[in-house]
Amino acid sequence: MILVGGMGTRLGALTQRTPKPLLPVAGRPFLDYLLLEAARFGFDRIVLLAGHLGGQVVDGFAGLRRLAGRDVDIEVVVEPEPAGTGGALEVLRDVADDAFLLMNGDSWFDLDLRAFASAAAADDAWVSMALRSTSDTARFGTVELEGRRVVRFLPRGAVAAPGLINAGVYLVRRALLDRIPSRPCSLEADIFPALVAQRRLMGVAEKGFFIDIGVPDDYAAADRLIAEHRRRPAVFLDRDGVLNEDLGYTYHPEDLRWLPGAREAVRQLNASGSYVFVVTNQAGVARGIYGENDVERFHARMDRELAEIGAHVDEYIYCPYHPDGSVAAYRRDSACRKPEPGMIVELMGRWPIDLDRSFLVGDKETDLAAAAAAGLPGVLYRDGTLDELIDASALRMRPKAS
Ligand SMILES: [Mg+2]
Repeated sequence: MILVGGMGTRLGALTQRTPKPLLPVAGRPFLDYLLLEAARFGFDRIVLLAGHLGGQVVDGFAGLRRLAGRDVDIEVVVEPEPAGTGGALEVLRDVADDAFLLMNGDSWFDLDLRAFASAAAADDAWVSMALRSTSDTARFGTVELEGRRVVRFLPRGAVAAPGLINAGVYLVRRALLDRIPSRPCSLEADIFPALVAQRRLMGVAEKGFFIDIGVPDDYAAADRLIAEHRRRPAVFLDRDGVLNEDLGYTYHPEDLRWLPGAREAVRQLNASGSYVFVVTNQAGVARGIYGENDVERFHARMDRELAEIGAHVDEYIYCPYHPDGSVAAYRRDSACRKPEPGMIVELMGRWPIDLDRSFLVGDKETDLAAAAAAGLPGVLYRDGTLDELIDASALRMRPKAS
């Protein structure tokens, strides 16, 4: 759930005709970056909670969108009248799961959303919030923790001192929606202080880049800062024989058997701040053994099982073609089929990748040939566990000057 209904009064004229989360950053609406973030962590159902100029959000965002290689279903709920950030949540009753991520639509906290959700899931709380330390808390809500429990929550402007701020990313339990006081009300001023008193608010201090485009200075620098912080090294992983057992045309979700250390390797790469991409030849589609739907279902199963340990794949890309295929639509040579580099090149065009610190891991010479053709080092996976191999490889790939 992303809150996109704010008035944006601190930005003056800029937000008179445009909802704040739709203001352009490097040529696209700021909200696009948040959607892409959610999608790369494997969230494929997103609800935008709109208010001020909500029609623009409906027109621009409602519907199915292909993001990070996934079909992402975006629903827009427009609140009937301004109800504050707290009152707005009430309308989510019809669409909310038992637990859901909630994010402010006008800020970006560069946070591993899967790791956060997975850690927060164990909290005995109605809301778990991501916190970030800062030198001057005055612009934000200030939070004091005892262990993971929030013992004080002060709204914006209360104190100017170093400390932890509310970074605007939450794991919310559905139970909260039944306990929202009379509308309109604010999350920061009304709901969180009440949750502190009931000992139902937890917090997790996280590091990471934070930008709030509601602040004029931040918005002015957003083009540069967001581009800078989205740029990461990438690790390209072959699928069958690297992540899961290669049973020969593996496609049935029930046949997913993770190789030892594979899921842990993905989590370790996530934690290191690398993008993780899966690049896989799926000639079984061209041979008529299974369809593209099956490939996507298999990847959805991988997503779910990775999420169980707080890990994720940023994007899966596959090549369904083969020159000897039996299905006419897929029978052809393709620049995407490894050893050709097409899939890697496509990902390089779509994501801001720091190529000097990137590499590929595969179990066949054709994987390494594809990497080489794309200008990347390749690591052959033969034995041992993937997490150990990644450890050793990442060490070797570390740039000389950093
Ligand atoms: Mg393989």
